[in-house]
Amino acid sequence: MPEPIPSTKPGKLALAVDIGGTKVATALVDLNGQVIGEIQTNPVPFLPDGRADGQALTALILAEVKRYDRQMVGVGLSLCGNVDEDTGLVPLSPNLHWRYYPFGSMVSDAVNLPVSAATDVRMAALAESIWGAARGVRFFAWATIGTGYGGYLFLDGKLYRGFHGYAGNFGHNTWDELTGEMCGCGKKGCVETFVSGPGIARAGQRAVDAGAGDNIRQLAGNGPLQSRHIFQAAAQGDPAARQVIEEVIRLTAINLASLVNILDLQMIVVGGGIAHADPNYVDWLAVRVRDFLMTDEAKRDLQIVKETFLNAALIGAAADVFQRQGLIQNQILGAVR
Ligand SMILES: [Zn+2]
Repeated sequence: MPEPIPSTKPGKLALAVDIGGTKVATALVDLNGQVIGEIQTNPVPFLPDGRADGQALTALILAEVKRYDRQMVGVGLSLCGNVDEDTGLVPLSPNLHWRYYPFGSMVSDAVNLPVSAATDVRMAALAESIWGAARGVRFFAWATIGTGYGGYLFLDGKLYRGFHGYAGNFGHNTWDELTGEMCGCGKKGCVETFVSGPGIARAGQRAVDAGAGDNIRQLAGNGPLQSRHIFQAAAQGDPAARQVIEEVIRLTAINLASLVNILDLQMIVVGGGIAHADPNYVDWLAVRVRDFLMTDEAKRDLQIVKETFLNAALIGAAADVFQRQGLIQNQILGAVR
């Protein structure tokens, strides 16, 4: 397959905005997915009642628009939560404490430019499909493993949102509701509670409490035990830490293989903090996942790769602006929404 080259018209820029649970990042991005200048990061402003301050965020975005006035064709908003891509309405963002919040229209009224908005995992998948590892790939999943575990799907050349816009929550498939922890989603024993950063830290703590994991204990010192301590201890050869990591890889591989068995994917792009916790993490996953794939064809062809960008959602917010205006195209089927 020849390497697809994104079609571009030089000189046009988008303001990309990624609003997470604690930080808001903004950057000017060009038609090649390159950040022009620096990524600005600020804390998300919150109101006394606990909700994120949408007016203050809008003012922050307007200030960036004015600062970068030249050649800007639009503003892309990546948001942690569920977003209606047509209206910019946020039906639910647990981290920002928004319920049916019209953030997209607030920003577009203020900046007088085209504004697009979508959930962060969708933006990240879009960035990987336009400028990243999944360029030219017709069927893939974006998976992000950090504080949580989730992702987004790109099926038959298109981003796939599902009936309510909740597709891609494979981290919230149940692994063990009997012995599992409560999950942030309200269910018990989701895969996320076992394989995310907090889940790995809990498993390490259990090992230490049982009298094993000397290296884990030494690395954590007097501070709270974190997932990186388990990865470091495993790299040092600590048997208990290695057992924890092997179990995490096994559960994640089972979960991702199930996705491939159902959807017949070509590729899974893995990102998030845990994907970088050990340089071999993604390779371990790529090997282990094959134990749970049904077909020889999937075992032969499935690629599991590390994310291209450290800020894929931010870069994807710009891709969304360009794609909606027809300035860039996905190279598989032509213009894809
Ligand atoms: Zn859950």
